[in-house]
Amino acid sequence: MAGGTVRSKQIAVGKVVKNSGVKPGARNPLTPERVAAILNILAKTYPGVVCALNHRNAWELTVATILSAQCTDVRVNLVTPALFKAFPTPKAMAAASLPEIEELIRTTGFFRNKAKSIQGAARIVTEEFGGKIPKTMEEILRLPGVARKTANVVLGSWYGIAFGVVVDTHVMRLTRRLELTKETKPEKIERDLMKIIPEDQWINFSHELIHHGRQVCIARKPRCIDCTLEKLCNSDDKTWTSHPA
Ligand code: SF4
Repeated sequence: MAGGTVRSKQIAVGKVVKNSGVKPGARNPLTPERVAAILNILAKTYPGVVCALNHRNAWELTVATILSAQCTDVRVNLVTPALFKAFPTPKAMAAASLPEIEELIRTTGFFRNKAKSIQGAARIVTEEFGGKIPKTMEEILRLPGVARKTANVVLGSWYGIAFGVVVDTHVMRLTRRLELTKETKPEKIERDLMKIIPEDQWINFSHELIHHGRQVCIARKPRCIDCTLEKLCNSDDKTWTSHPA
C-alpha cells in the first residue's frame, strides 16, 4: 500500500493524556454514516464469524467463558475437552471436588478461583435452574464468576438473544481507537455502544471486533497497513496511515 506514511506520535513523553487512544478535535466520530460504514466493513471482513470458544451447549460456553478470563481461547479449548469428559453435566460438575476441577483447569491461570466459580455455578444451575443455563441476564448474573460480559456471550452466542454488547479487552481497546466511546469501564462502554449500534447487530459486532482485535488491531503494534477500517480510523495508536493528520 504505497503512499502511506508512518503517523508521528503526538503525545509528549511522560505526559498523561486522558483518552489517549482518540485524537481530539471537533469532528463528530459518531455520525450514523460513519458507524454504519464501520459495521459494514467489519461484516464484510469477517463474514459468518462465531465465538472462538469450543462448546456444545450453553453450560459448556458458560464454563469456557469463565475459564477465558486472563487466558487465551486457544488454551481454554485445549483444556475443556478433558474437563467435560470427566464432568459432562452441571450435575456431575457440582458433585466434583475442587481439587479434581483445579487439576483439569490448572493451565488456564487463576485456577483456584475459577474452579470455585465453576463448581458454584454448577450447583446453582443444578439446584435452581433445572440443569440448564437460564435465558435472562438477571438469572445468569446469579452464577458465581459470571459478570455481564459472560452473560452477554452466552445469551448472544448460544440463545441468540441480544441483551447487550459483549465488551472484553479487545472491544474496549478497539472501540476507543475507533472513537465509538471515550469511556474506560466495560459497563459504560457497553451503554455507549448500545446507543449507536442497531440492536440486531449487537451480537455480530462484538464477534467481528474481537476477531479484528486478535488478528489486526492488536494491542501493542496494530497492523494498520492491513486494516480494512484504516481510512475510518484516526487513533493516535496507529502505526501507519493513508491520511496523515
Ligand atoms: S487503523 Fe490501526 S489502530 Fe485503527 S482500527 Fe485499524 S489496526 Fe486498529
